[in-house]
Amino acid sequence: MLYRLVVKQDSNGQIVLTPEQQHYLKKVLRMGSGDRFIALDGRGKSWIARIKGTSAEIVEPLNLSTELPITATLVIALPKGNAFDEVVRCTTELGVTTIVPVISDRTIIKPSPHKLERWRRIATEAAEQSERQIVPNITEPVKFVTALADLVNLETDCYICVARSDGKSLFDCLQNKQARNTVIATGPEGGFSPKEIETAKAAGFQAVSLGRRILRAVTAPIAALSLLAAIAQTNNQNS
Ligand code: SAM
Repeated sequence: MLYRLVVKQDSNGQIVLTPEQQHYLKKVLRMGSGDRFIALDGRGKSWIARIKGTSAEIVEPLNLSTELPITATLVIALPKGNAFDEVVRCTTELGVTTIVPVISDRTIIKPSPHKLERWRRIATEAAEQSERQIVPNITEPVKFVTALADLVNLETDCYICVARSDGKSLFDCLQNKQARNTVIATGPEGGFSPKEIETAKAAGFQAVSLGRRILRAVTAPIAALSLLAAIAQTNNQNS
């Protein structure tokens, strides 16, 4: 099995290895000039590459397809502490396309500027590990109601997960239609405020349930994406 690495290219399309990547390939994996690995641009292209000194050269393009057949955007209210790290890691493994971290009325944490860089690094590592072709985009944290307007369009189905609601289950909503690009919003430990739920509905989001049990703010986006990924893949295979 070849090691996978998300790389940058220079203006001539030549693969550029960062000092950290050179160190990892040479000192940790004990690889050297001539050894091969899979290079990914993180936006869908991949190649077999060969180490050449401090850079690498493309040997041949690869035609891989492990991505979901739809785009999956998760709008996630930031949970307490470092719990978002795990959400980024797990949802990247499950196939998320875009993560929109949001600050909602009941969000407790104030994200530091270094966090975004850290989440993007975690997403890159998780994408390499889970054999994806794209690294999910993680946007700057914004207020939940600010994020809403940019997310709704005619080609996208938008859902807001509301615990203790009598809304339809997300599973039923997804199962009864052709797989389409989808946005799913999940709230913080204290849940979305009634005003946020009303604003989301007015913007075109449908309130949905994830079942009778109350999931933690960390579990809810992972559970919602697992459902979406499984149903989208099954619908795609059957169509
Ligand atoms: N404090 C809230 C309450 O008691 O109703 C629960 C908040 S829950 C810990 C965090 C978030 O996960 C919720 O805002 C919601 O988006 C999602 N969530 C958890 N369980 C859910 C369920 N059974 N159905 C729908 N959404 C759920």
